Amino acid sequence: MPSFRADAFVFFGATGDLARGKIFPALAALAHSGQLDVPIVGVARSPMSIDEFRSRARSSLEAKGPVDENAWQALCRQLRYIDGDYRDPNTFAKLRKEIGDASHPLHYLAIPPSMFETVLEGLAKAGGTDGARVIVEKPFGRDLESARELNRTLHAHFPESSVFRIDHYLGKEAVQNLLYFRFANSFVEPLWNRTHIDSVQITMAEAFGVRGRGAFYDGVGTIRDVVQNHLLQVVSLLAMDAPIGSDAESMRSEKLRLFRAMRPLDPAQVVRGQFRGYRDEPGVAADSKVETFVALRLQIDTWRWAGVPFYIRAGKCLPVTATEVFVDLKTPPMSVFDPVSKARSNYFRFQLSPEVIVSIGARAKKPGEGMLGEDVELVATCCPENGGRSAYERLIGDALRGDSSLFTRDDTVEAAWRVVDPALRDDRPVLPYDPGSWGPAAAAKVVADGEPWHDPYPREQPASK
Ligand code: NDP
Repeated sequence: MPSFRADAFVFFGATGDLARGKIFPALAALAHSGQLDVPIVGVARSPMSIDEFRSRARSSLEAKGPVDENAWQALCRQLRYIDGDYRDPNTFAKLRKEIGDASHPLHYLAIPPSMFETVLEGLAKAGGTDGARVIVEKPFGRDLESARELNRTLHAHFPESSVFRIDHYLGKEAVQNLLYFRFANSFVEPLWNRTHIDSVQITMAEAFGVRGRGAFYDGVGTIRDVVQNHLLQVVSLLAMDAPIGSDAESMRSEKLRLFRAMRPLDPAQVVRGQFRGYRDEPGVAADSKVETFVALRLQIDTWRWAGVPFYIRAGKCLPVTATEVFVDLKTPPMSVFDPVSKARSNYFRFQLSPEVIVSIGARAKKPGEGMLGEDVELVATCCPENGGRSAYERLIGDALRGDSSLFTRDDTVEAAWRVVDPALRDDRPVLPYDPGSWGPAAAAKVVADGEPWHDPYPREQPASK
């Protein structure tokens, strides 16, 4: 399909949590930079006037800090609101009227997944899918079968080229830098294989719990919430081969090859945990078996990666809030000088949050007569995580222009579910762990040969719930 600019932006779920926290700030920034000079129409159930809707939008910007008045004015000029139930065809008739003669609207489904089909059908019946694009929020299905079903539903109304499955992780600067750093530096590629890399660890730690979203979280768990999507995407950027070009399809095809080479998880190599106190959270079942922590070992069956374990650890109520990739290089074949510290001498470390850091671990000689060394770290880049545009601003801007590079394709999303599906069917009990710890003790056994998990920096942060 030829690339065109969307001429209206419609977001379903306009009164929801995601709209408040992410979408309004992104829209204000896009409107301010002239990238959203089209009607912006919010659609939700709550009855309210346009002034009340504007005031919600304003409060969501204020919650992020001082409001840029130019950005606010630019957003305000375009903002419209339609109230109505998605099950009522009249809601879509009103929407059709509101967007007037727009022929290429971009529809954003920022709504509970149970409503996806209803909204798609409502749009289709009102003629709102012709020439349009759709952004679909995560979670994209609950398992492989439901993801396939959702793809079938989407394809009944939109060609794949018009479907933009959002994974906001792919819009993050630090995540894009994984790919950039690998393929923009000639010294990386010769090392980036099973000959030189011992293992790869990815830790996504949150020092807080479910933050009042217990009812949502209890229907999802850590594997569905962050592993199937964000963390497997990170693995794909770390492990894929160089794409033949920088266009969206070359990127996405290379990624798909990598996803297809990931071995479905072996439940024996997955440890699921649940923090003590989780079952007392509002909205959480008193006998919940849902994991708030997971540690797992992933294998990638390619010539580049055969035998190199990719370890993933993610969870809530851990000691810090940070996401970090640690690529452990093999030790030198023999020790000529001092005994080489096996634990942390040669590595690449990519911190994705709270800061964006790329660093390389090495040994250097200590000043003095003896040939004795110490571990040093060469910090390649370091900046705050939110130094540039927000991920949502970037991704909505891309979808408006029709650039799908950073969105997940149907075949890739299904391939990712195929990898995690066996772990979702694991009915062994979750292992309890204390808030503020690094999960259940059994997580240590996921890593081979007694190697340690590499805890992300900063090692200590005040816990917040
Ligand atoms: P909320 O429950 O906060 O909001 C749901 C929205 O949908 C509200 O605007 C609600 O309108 C509207 N809605 C629901 N049912 C109907 C209906 N029958 N007719 C009309 N409007 C309806 O959800 P979130 O904003 O938290 O999440 C939205 C999507 O984004 C979900 O898919 C979620 O998984 C995803 N997501 C959310 C994140 C977050 O931070 N919240 C993060 C990542 C993804 P009203 O309130 O007026 O009834």
